[in-house]
Amino acid sequence: KLTLAGIIKSTPVKEALLRVDRANYVENPANAYSDAPQSIGYAQTISAPHMHSHALEEILPTLTKFSREFQQSEIMLGESREPASEEEKELKILDVGCGSGYLTAALGRLVDRGTQGPIHPLSKGRVFGIDVIPELVTLSRHNIMKADSDLFTSGTVSVARGDGWNGLPSEGPFHAIHVGAAAETFPPSLMMQLYPHGGVMVIPVGANNSIQNLYRVERLRDSDHYNRDDFRIQNLLGVRYVPLVHSKMP
Ligand code: SAH
Repeated sequence: KLTLAGIIKSTPVKEALLRVDRANYVENPANAYSDAPQSIGYAQTISAPHMHSHALEEILPTLTKFSREFQQSEIMLGESREPASEEEKELKILDVGCGSGYLTAALGRLVDRGTQGPIHPLSKGRVFGIDVIPELVTLSRHNIMKADSDLFTSGTVSVARGDGWNGLPSEGPFHAIHVGAAAETFPPSLMMQLYPHGGVMVIPVGANNSIQNLYRVERLRDSDHYNRDDFRIQNLLGVRYVPLVHSKMP
């Protein structure tokens, strides 16, 4: 269905995107399989498939690394010691600006706790989608219910209203964070919600209607306070996203 010239490099990302039908997430299903952004209402758009692919490809190595750590700790602990709690061995992912719900669902497929299971070689996990526009929280829930409702019943995916500038401190830290709207500056509170030892965020940064770039931000070490030196920041490519707005949400 999707011919994405060389952007999808890995089997897990391809598999995750194949498991979520984009037709359930766009306003006009006739355009579901074109590689272009589509309107989802409220002046917002579902990103083009190649942008979702880039984001997932950037996040995948980190999820793979943490999954391997979980799996190895299980082997090493064997039966001799108290097993680590189920929660501790789960990947946690935050999707800021879940909009249509499409990428939230694709991330959910990667770490599916339900009967389909996570996509090899990943461990299972939980994906938290947040959006600042209440109607879009409802829309993502509605879209995911169409053919991916098992992601809700298995507890893999949840969506709620939230402001990306604040993130979701109650559920952090996250092994990976995706931001689907452009921040004019790097958001420190959100960066501090990355898992301290190697958590990765993919985020567009730049002023509205100006130059924006997609960045990969990796948290290198633990610290109580934000310090830019504790993060490795890489510029991936030039992009064009709607702005990450400042809301008056508490
Ligand atoms: N990943 C989504 C992108 C939707 S467009 C998709 O592919 O469908 C960007 C989204 O970011 C919109 O839904 C918008 O409401 C949301 N958004 C903008 N500012 C936000 C903020 N401060 N916090 C959370 N979401 C925000």
